[in-house]
Amino acid sequence: MTISQMPYWWEDAPLMALPKTDISPACDVAIVGAGFTGLSAALTLSKAGKSVQVFDKDVVGAAASSRNGGITSGSLRPSLASAVARFGEERACAMFVEAKQARLGLRELIDAHGIDCDYDLSGMFTGALTVSDFNAMKSEAQLLFNKTGIETQIVTQDMLPDHVGSNKYVGGLSNSAIGTIHPAKLVSGLYKAATKAGAVIHAETAVLNVKQHAGSFQVETEHGHCQATNVIVATNGYGDDSDKWLRRRLVPVKSRIVVTEELSPNLVASLMPNGRGMGERKKLYRYFRPTPDGKRILMGGREPPWVNNLDRSIEHGRRALISIFPQLEGVGITHSWSGNVAFSRSDIPQFFSHEGIHYAVGFCGSGTVWAPWLGNKVALKILGDPDGTTSFESDPPPNVPLYRGKPWFIPAMIAGYGLQDWINSRR
Ligand SMILES: Cc1cc2nc3c(=O)[nH]c(=O)nc-3n(C[C@H](O)[C@H](O)[C@H](O)COP(=O)(O)OP(=O)(O)OC[C@H]3O[C@@H](n4cnc5c(N)ncnc54)[C@H](O)[C@@H]3O)c2cc1C
Repeated sequence: MTISQMPYWWEDAPLMALPKTDISPACDVAIVGAGFTGLSAALTLSKAGKSVQVFDKDVVGAAASSRNGGITSGSLRPSLASAVARFGEERACAMFVEAKQARLGLRELIDAHGIDCDYDLSGMFTGALTVSDFNAMKSEAQLLFNKTGIETQIVTQDMLPDHVGSNKYVGGLSNSAIGTIHPAKLVSGLYKAATKAGAVIHAETAVLNVKQHAGSFQVETEHGHCQATNVIVATNGYGDDSDKWLRRRLVPVKSRIVVTEELSPNLVASLMPNGRGMGERKKLYRYFRPTPDGKRILMGGREPPWVNNLDRSIEHGRRALISIFPQLEGVGITHSWSGNVAFSRSDIPQFFSHEGIHYAVGFCGSGTVWAPWLGNKVALKILGDPDGTTSFESDPPPNVPLYRGKPWFIPAMIAGYGLQDWINSRR
């Protein structure tokens, strides 16, 4: 069977090749990057009457925003307990409360602009592979409830068949506030809403340099330049040497997705009841979801850097899928592709400013909710709107020592995480 390396999503929602338009010599806001973050910022600013130009070095949305798994997780990597230790109780709790608001915010954004992106509030199950993991999950859920009033449902072993058709798990948590989308349709909807509001999008126009100049910014692109009062950088895992300062702070990590051939809808429903997405409590996180038509299963996770051959990488994904769902033995993979997620040493999504330029980046592999949310926040901040306040606004993340854009340490890190998962699974 030939495996398509094009994201499955692009079959239903092909990426748009845009006609070239002239770059205006001046605008209120220039945005670098036309993914969820850049488009959402452009939409808010244009609606408020600002002149906005968005530049993307590729076709609109071709990066992570149309390649992702489409789980509207809005997750934070640190647990509430470790967030309290790092940021203090007040800010840590505010972050988790904001995560809940941000998930609702995505729903409101989709509804407000009538975006047809197969949004399904199906809920999300996170499975524990060991009793110690399950106990830790229960304590975290209790702490979250005690500190913020946010509820998650504990799934005990007898409840598992209602949540997942796999005997790998000893229990887990279910979060009814998480759902799924068709990511390429969301990109397309955001693009249409932003351009309707007046934003001008210049695709295939790389930004080469941004310099402060006489109280504003000179934005140089490969097809000309413009003067902008404000600049937003929304390049996340696809930043390049046009911003060396950011490159030293943000590490791109490859993530791979595999999609099965069409299965019987009954089989899909028995593995993932109610169309619910699923993840695992592991260092090397894997996630699963049905496609919107309920006929295939999509699985994503970190691309193992030591598997340096595409066929082996896809086979690695297929075997991971079968290890959870042995019922899929013999089922073919029809699509597999990869994309970059971005991590910083802060380990949380962030909005910060440096030398007057605004950045919304570092979504740690969980950006379907956070990217549009922080894109909107940065836009509101520029507008001077008090709703621009967010607990994710902070100082820039520290730079990563000995890192200049080539993440040489990732293979060792992923191997270390894999080892920790293996040790944990033997407990
Ligand atoms: C395989 C995969 C699966 C994922 N699954 C999920 C999931 O299920 N749930 C979830 O919540 N998150 C998921 N994510 C993460 C999520 O997709 C991202 O966090 C989110 O899309 C980031 O959006 P963004 O707009 O910030 O960045 P992107 O969509 O990556 O856009 C950045 C843009 O910047 C442009 N750019 C970079 N440099 C320049 C320059 N110099 N000039 C002009 N343009 C430039 C790029 O071309 C790109 O289009 C996944 C990511 C991947 C890769």
